Amino acid sequence: MNGEETRFAFFNGTFVPIEEAKISVRTHAFNYGTGCFEGIRAYWSDEDERLLIFRLLDHYQRLLRSCRLLHISLPHAAEELCEITVELLRREGFQQDCYVRPLAYKSSKAIGLLIHELEDGFCIFAVPFGKYIEGEEASVAVSSWRRIEDSALPARGKLTGAYVNSSLAKSEAVLNGFDEAIVLTQDGYASEGSSENLFMIRDGALITPPVTDNILEGITRDTVIQLAEQALGLTVLQRRINRTELYIADELFFSGTAAEVSPIIKVDHRPLGDGRIGPITSQLKALYFDVVRGRKEAYRHWCTPVEA
Ligand code: PMP
Repeated sequence: MNGEETRFAFFNGTFVPIEEAKISVRTHAFNYGTGCFEGIRAYWSDEDERLLIFRLLDHYQRLLRSCRLLHISLPHAAEELCEITVELLRREGFQQDCYVRPLAYKSSKAIGLLIHELEDGFCIFAVPFGKYIEGEEASVAVSSWRRIEDSALPARGKLTGAYVNSSLAKSEAVLNGFDEAIVLTQDGYASEGSSENLFMIRDGALITPPVTDNILEGITRDTVIQLAEQALGLTVLQRRINRTELYIADELFFSGTAAEVSPIIKVDHRPLGDGRIGPITSQLKALYFDVVRGRKEAYRHWCTPVEA
């Protein structure tokens, strides 16, 4: 789980042994947080006897949007990045669930803050990866940290520097004895978890904050919305959520590539519903795992196989 089994990286245009994928202490991105990244999961399918990468193209399309925010231009199109990722996983030969981390960054060794007309670097590596949020039932706290505002740092880009905000929220929550944090917008509406989008169920409807409330536009969020509407026939609303709605919600859960569908059973010491995982969350979670492991024909197009 700590990446010790990683053997290769794709690093600035070629596959290299992981030990050779190194950057300088002078690298702009290391000094100023001027990079962007993705987190992609690949699931081992016992039925297929191969890895299935989930929503690969969507992740690379988002990476290219993040690059645009940072004036990074990559020499690869999204489709090509998908092929490179399949090849990396084929070389690694993992026969277990894993996590793929592409990173595009300012590789120039210049001191100074300009980000245009600087050299760009790009790498991808993969690690075996199990659960991100330990335990089935998360107890969460509303964070004392607020979510970054679009007017200061674009939240819809997955920018390395912006993750200081997420780390402060996550560590505060864990040091205070909770599993995760919910961060609010500057004006006090629920935005998301430290690295997950947030869903609430009230009176049978699925509700999630809109993309204008400083969320990362999550791919799992989109998956959950589509599954809820298409497969379960639920009403999905994208609207603002007040803090106190979290306390009286019927059900709450997080969605994210790493977090998958993670039920929340307590917020700020207040148990939700009857204190156990709610029925809609359970249904969505089971369906999500069937979909990512390629067991639902209608959603197989989201799974990119890695041939041995
Ligand atoms: N918000 C943040 C801040 C995240 O880091 C993530 C994880 N990428 C998410 C939400 C969930 O996004 P996705 O479903 O695309 O992984």
